[in-house]
Amino acid sequence: MSGGDRPPVGLVTGGGGDIGRAIALRLAQMSDAVAIVDRDETAAGAVAQLVEKAGARALAIRADVSSARETAAFVEAVETRLGPIGIFANNAGIEGVVAPLHEYPDETFDQLLQVNVKGVFLGLKHVIARMMQRGTGAIINTASTSAIRGRAGLAGYVASKHAVLGLTRTAALDVARTRIRVNAVLPGPVESRMIRELEGQARDSAIALRRSAAIAHGRPQDVASVVAFLASDEAAHVNGAAWVVDGGMTLA
Ligand code: NAD
Repeated sequence: MSGGDRPPVGLVTGGGGDIGRAIALRLAQMSDAVAIVDRDETAAGAVAQLVEKAGARALAIRADVSSARETAAFVEAVETRLGPIGIFANNAGIEGVVAPLHEYPDETFDQLLQVNVKGVFLGLKHVIARMMQRGTGAIINTASTSAIRGRAGLAGYVASKHAVLGLTRTAALDVARTRIRVNAVLPGPVESRMIRELEGQARDSAIALRRSAAIAHGRPQDVASVVAFLASDEAAHVNGAAWVVDGGMTLA
């Protein structure tokens, strides 16, 4: 949290998606203002309306997180229009296609690194630069359990999420002497458009994605509540952590 009298401003990228929406609504309970950034303007606007209904000020911004220029611009816009960013959920991500590695398309691999890795890097860079001026803030990167294991058919996604964990750990050390904290949340499969899309593709290509049919998928709010904890002062000594939210599936 940002500390001081004012509740911190929350920012969530990919805020128009399933997990981003749940995070935005949790941040609305902790912050007096929430910015929702998404490349899908309509989705971001719809979530901004929900945030306002929940009683917080909201700002929807259309931007591509993989663009340095657009990232600098949305960070500037959020601080100018809402105030200093205290909580940053660096959450936007894409899944790509399901294909065995020897058939995996080069362009999909490049796109995943561009959005899931470069996008997370740029968000960290520009938000940390602001937070350093105040010496405080909480950042939560959305990685995945694909950051700590292999998954057949998902070369680009798995490589990109391992990189998100590496960025989290490095950023956490770079800010360790301040009251800024950088952590990662690692969801397993969550009831969402993304997982329906991946599981549909996996069925078509006969690649099995689920490790344990006995463990139910999580819900977007299960991820959001861990993000809220990591953003809170309750997690004041948690930095550089990889917080798995998968109902135990990764252990199976
Ligand atoms: P989603 O597709 O519903 O949401 C992702 C959002 O990010 C979308 O609204 C999309 O428009 C936006 N986005 C994509 N590329 C963007 C870009 N370049 N710039 C700006 N916005 C962009 O997916 P979700 O399930 O809500 O996923 C959110 C995060 O959680 C992702 O990082 C994903 O990898 C991760 N995750 C999801 C699951 C799952 O089961 N759904 C599991 C583990 C991790």
